[in-house]
Amino acid sequence: MHTGDLATIDVEGYCNIVGRIKDMVIRGDENVYPREIEEFLYRHPKIQDVQVIGVPDPRYGEELCAWVCLHDGEIATAEEIRAFCQGQIAHYKVPRYVKFVDGFPMTVTGKIQKFLMRQADDRRAGPQPAGDRVMTRIASVTTHMISVSRPQPVWTAHEHSKAWNVILTEVRTDDGLVGYGEIHGTPMPRICEWVGRFGEIIRGMDALAHIAVWEKLFALTSPRHGGIDGRDGLPPPIPRGERAPVMAAIAGIDIALWDIKGKAAGLPVYRLLGGENRPIFTYATGGYYRPEASHADYGEELARFIDLGYRAVKLKTGAGTVAEEAKRIGEVRRAIGKEPSLMLDMNAAYDLPDCIEFAGAVEPHRIFWLEEPLHWCLQPADFARLAAATPIPLAHGERELTRFTVRDFIVEGGIRYVQFDATRAAGFTEALRIAQLAEQHGVMLAPHTAPELHGHLALASPRCVFGVESHGGPETDPLAFGLFHELPVLRDGHLHLGSQPGFGLEVDWTFVDRHRLRA
Ligand SMILES: [Mg+2]
Repeated sequence: MHTGDLATIDVEGYCNIVGRIKDMVIRGDENVYPREIEEFLYRHPKIQDVQVIGVPDPRYGEELCAWVCLHDGEIATAEEIRAFCQGQIAHYKVPRYVKFVDGFPMTVTGKIQKFLMRQADDRRAGPQPAGDRVMTRIASVTTHMISVSRPQPVWTAHEHSKAWNVILTEVRTDDGLVGYGEIHGTPMPRICEWVGRFGEIIRGMDALAHIAVWEKLFALTSPRHGGIDGRDGLPPPIPRGERAPVMAAIAGIDIALWDIKGKAAGLPVYRLLGGENRPIFTYATGGYYRPEASHADYGEELARFIDLGYRAVKLKTGAGTVAEEAKRIGEVRRAIGKEPSLMLDMNAAYDLPDCIEFAGAVEPHRIFWLEEPLHWCLQPADFARLAAATPIPLAHGERELTRFTVRDFIVEGGIRYVQFDATRAAGFTEALRIAQLAEQHGVMLAPHTAPELHGHLALASPRCVFGVESHGGPETDPLAFGLFHELPVLRDGHLHLGSQPGFGLEVDWTFVDRHRLRA
């Protein structure tokens, strides 16, 4: 009789079924019976159910992969499961891969279909990712606050700045991938607290399911059924006053997950999104107010950007009267020459009548855009009125927290350039959603700061991208140039991205430790 069962016969002649012939795994010279390993793993207190299969391996022919269902509410890592096996079963029986699942593929009669599991884990069918993993889950989320003091404090029209700051987020997966994100926002310690809390909430989630992670965290910002008494084990709805740091925290996690996604696929993020590598236009921002600086000093400063190869520069404006500012801008235009584009960053300096006057006064200097021209409280309808009153295009978006407010500026606000900043709020996922909306409305993308990240968005959005923002070279932007070992190359006013997986950024930990800010 042939049953397909594998059996051993003991000294007393009893027959033990040890598994199915089809299930037997041949790893190197060893025959391994999955059932034996499954029975051992059932002893682990967190494991509710487990199935072991063989997956193709170039070295051993096959390697063992355990699909594990945990008991409700439990979280475990692959390392933890493997450590449980070490020294207890033969080393070649310890599963090389551990995959956490909610269930197994079954027939209608409830029989587990291991052939479907083997098909799902056969990496030969697709491109080989970096490493040879079958699953990747979020294992930890940490932050690093980094601050580089400026030689002298500077001002925008609105705020002073004593340092260049960034929060680096670091997300690790249970199979050894590490993704990095950047956050530009304040207060930094508060944002880090939120990242830490969110890290606990998303630990164990599929690291490639960035939409699921985003939705889970964003949902915490609104009331929900059972939210007040915490019945679902999540924090109560997040208070209104915390929205900016919370959206910044989501941003840092989301960007790190995109980095992981690229690394898991062995592709740069722009290729993951279907973009091809080509030079990305970039401009340089400067002219931050220094109390003792003359108009000529600002002209010299921006002219140095032109010497570096930039073909467009942006000047901070808005701190003075309309007449003073027009004079200062005129001096800068003379210093940089006629050809380069000149943008004005006003940091929400004016109300509507003053801004219309300002636009008229600076128009002769060939202004490329007016950025954040109106007071913070003014709305898309006010931007639409301004747009109707000046031929200079308007730019806006860096202070917006979600796609929903950006939508109204795009649809009704008369802006021609949208400057949403994925590192300040809501992350790369939200920036992609905004890019799609902008394209449909003929609005151009000009993301605020972080060109090493936003450059990937630019390459993925060729129909609607204007370019990315830089801040010159290492002297004027020591943090951006110090944080990573290799940055996109600046040549002829364009950035040239590499082809490393993810965002392709390797952190310089010596730099991080030198400039680390303690909470
Ligand atoms: Mg700005």
